[in-house]
Amino acid sequence: MSEQGLRESVELMRERGLGPEAIRVFEHYFEQLEAGALGTIPEDSIEPLGDIQALGEVQVSDEEARAALSKTAVIKLNGGLGTGMGMTGAKSALEVRDGLTFLDIIALQVLALRKQWDVELPLVLMNSFRTSEESLAILEKYPDLPVEGVPLDFIQNAEPKLCPDGLTPVKWPKDPELEWCPPGHGDIYVSLVTSGVLDALLAKGIRYAFLSNSDNLGATCDPDVAAWMVEHGVPYVAEVCRRTKSDRKGGHLAVRKSDGRIVLRDTAMVAEGEERFFRDIKRHNTFNANNVWVDLEVLRERMTQKQGVLGLPIIVNRKNVDPADPSSPEVIQMESAMGTAIEVFEGSEAILVPRTRFRPVKTTNDLLVIRSDFFSLDESFHVVAAVDGPEPYVDLDSAYRFVSGFEKRFPRGVPSMRDCTSLRVIGDPVFGRNVRCVGDVLIDGYRRVLDDAVLGEVSAGAAAPPVAPGEVRTVDEHLRAILSTLEPAPTQWTPLTEALGLVVARDVRAKVDLPHFDNSSMDGYAVRADSLAGAADAPVRLRIVGEVAAGEQPTFSVGPGEAARIMTGAPMPEGADAVIAVEDTDGSASGDVECRTAVTRGRYVRPRGEDVTSGSVVVPAGTVVGARTLALLAACGHAEVEVHRRPHVVVVSTGSELVPPGEALGAGQIHDSNSSMLWAAAVNAGASAEMRGAVGDSEQDLIALLDEVVATTDVVVTSGGVSMGAYDVVKNALAGEGIDFVKVAMQPGKPQGYGLLTGPGGRRVPFFALPGNPVSSFVSFEVFVRPALRRLMRLTPEKRRLRPATLISGVESFGGRRQFGRALVSRSAEGTLVAVPVAGQGSHFVADLSRANALFVVPEDVTELVAGEVVDVLLLDPEA
Ligand code: AMP
Ligand code: MG
Repeated sequence: MSEQGLRESVELMRERGLGPEAIRVFEHYFEQLEAGALGTIPEDSIEPLGDIQALGEVQVSDEEARAALSKTAVIKLNGGLGTGMGMTGAKSALEVRDGLTFLDIIALQVLALRKQWDVELPLVLMNSFRTSEESLAILEKYPDLPVEGVPLDFIQNAEPKLCPDGLTPVKWPKDPELEWCPPGHGDIYVSLVTSGVLDALLAKGIRYAFLSNSDNLGATCDPDVAAWMVEHGVPYVAEVCRRTKSDRKGGHLAVRKSDGRIVLRDTAMVAEGEERFFRDIKRHNTFNANNVWVDLEVLRERMTQKQGVLGLPIIVNRKNVDPADPSSPEVIQMESAMGTAIEVFEGSEAILVPRTRFRPVKTTNDLLVIRSDFFSLDESFHVVAAVDGPEPYVDLDSAYRFVSGFEKRFPRGVPSMRDCTSLRVIGDPVFGRNVRCVGDVLIDGYRRVLDDAVLGEVSAGAAAPPVAPGEVRTVDEHLRAILSTLEPAPTQWTPLTEALGLVVARDVRAKVDLPHFDNSSMDGYAVRADSLAGAADAPVRLRIVGEVAAGEQPTFSVGPGEAARIMTGAPMPEGADAVIAVEDTDGSASGDVECRTAVTRGRYVRPRGEDVTSGSVVVPAGTVVGARTLALLAACGHAEVEVHRRPHVVVVSTGSELVPPGEALGAGQIHDSNSSMLWAAAVNAGASAEMRGAVGDSEQDLIALLDEVVATTDVVVTSGGVSMGAYDVVKNALAGEGIDFVKVAMQPGKPQGYGLLTGPGGRRVPFFALPGNPVSSFVSFEVFVRPALRRLMRLTPEKRRLRPATLISGVESFGGRRQFGRALVSRSAEGTLVAVPVAGQGSHFVADLSRANALFVVPEDVTELVAGEVVDVLLLDPEA
């Protein structure tokens, strides 16, 4: 079927000048792909890696180390483009620290090792056609680096990207280079052969190669590993590190039960439904650092024997032909991973190395830490921690994700991180010179971080506040700050009816065909259409041979001249291929039936699989579960569906003046109306909610309540106590505790508090402190809490849509603040919306709030709107 795809691909590869080994490997994977290979490693086919050698316990003399190193070459995987960090060229050309790029540091590390051990230690880069020129230009600074007879780089092979249908090479005339991709870093073994580098190294007496990623500065050529490998005659060594909670994603090694060989299971190789095993860091307690040592003689022997096809497991990657354009056509890329070669060599070993040998820079968060004073470069250009203790955790906002945005916001260097345990930045402040982070730091805002600021645990008596005094935030800035702290709620298998309104997290496939069997769509008689050929001219009598009701399975068959009574939904008996409706017969129950019309084959038969075929996706991820989705899920055999969990909201009112509704009011007291209002608003937004009544204006009571609820809830919403009064309990209790109290340029709802409470086990619980006036509270919920809940549930759009409405009477507004007024909106005869502002626009008017069905929005730069002008409105109730 896809023979043509293979032929065309091979032709293109030949035209491009790729060697026979590269083509053979391509053919090998192509066949696997065609055969439907998934490349997965099921959990029951492996056992966890047992006891392995720890590098720290290896005893090596200087002489042994030198001897091993003198036969070793360093090869760096250098094809990476750093697209994840917004780069377009070679990632290793990025400046890491002290004015040095990855490549500078790699070169200096190699030169230092050569000097220290008096060895030749060739350095070779495996480049892609995109990274070669730029990388070699950087290395020109080091005239002593090239070693005679060995090139400084070789270019890895390429293969055509394939169309998923028919597996033909994709055509992309816009940028034909995008029709090609590298076949993964597992191609290194093939490229070493096709480039001639393998022979060149062996000819020089180099027998071992240390292979690692160029973005991993911890991967230095450690002579102890080389010596250990030589001493024990190990053909292939993979370095692994202890796995911690944050390493759940990386690949791990395991022992294959069938032959006892060590295998690598990468993320892409996990069988469906087995993520939990993959993520279990107790069961698979080390991860693959992708630092690999290979005996080149053994490699050559193997490659010769196998004509270049090592047979590494295939990784089937689905991407877009233009990776930067998600709307470009989908393609298949057949890849393999360098580390999977471990299963190919008899006698391969894993060695446990310290974390310091795995220090990749994948994100600008990593970059910040490696650039900071938490690390330094020692005289051998190894990256060493300047401080004991764990590396700080860094989480920068999206504005910093690309290197360009990162550099712009740290124009005077990154902060000191020696005393920092975590740094989280929401918003996009520019950092001044000499900033120091201490302990856990959360920056939330859009202001400048001043020169010499100390962020975090500011010592008593420290003078200047760390951030410039806050201006007022805009509504959009505040909402952005809130949303940037939120991740979608975890997914959960949920019984159908409890999933109503939630978002499906994973494609759902039908477990059965729909219809499940050929059945009748009419009450009538199952017949062979041929038996009634003449019935249009003169009635035909058929002999009744049986009867089938819905839910029964007929045990007889219908032959020529025969009929079976059949009811709607009942399975078609064998032999019958059509149904004649009872109305077109004399309706006999037994004996003969007189049929007055002819029928075509298939008439009134609902064939099996007509609606849905078993295994097809019926409900794609992202679907909001509604009544019709539930019907489909149930029909396809599902009792549960995996959805993003419904967040639970605890609502707390504050104020000593509050008494529950229904109780008599004493002097100065009012009924707590915010609790029920916010509870309902949360439920309307799709969350589950719980009222905890009112706490008085006591900080201890509030803290005690929060300590309790934080353990069981996903979100906390309070009202009252956030402005400038003496009894502003929420603000007084929580300011400086990770909750920010800010002024937002809106009316009503200017004072707002938001932050993350920390629950048991470090769980983060979003906390909203809304103002107390009922209207302010309501508007604040609409504008900030509702979008946040929808973000958690992955419902889109997160914000209500603005619709234009014609104002029936004029309104005035404060300049400089966005005003959310209350209005009654209806449809005019022409179908357009008209808005009547309610009389009382004060933030204490509960009755006018209740009368309104919409908010109208007056922008910051508008102070007056006259009758007849169009205003944006947010409709609060669903339209019928
Ligand atoms: P506060 O922000 O606590 O000063 O409250 C502002 C105004 O809102 C005061 O008049 C409070 O009495 C009123 N208020 C606060 N909480 C509630 C509530 N739960 N129900 C009704 N009114 C409230
Ligand atoms: Mg109060």
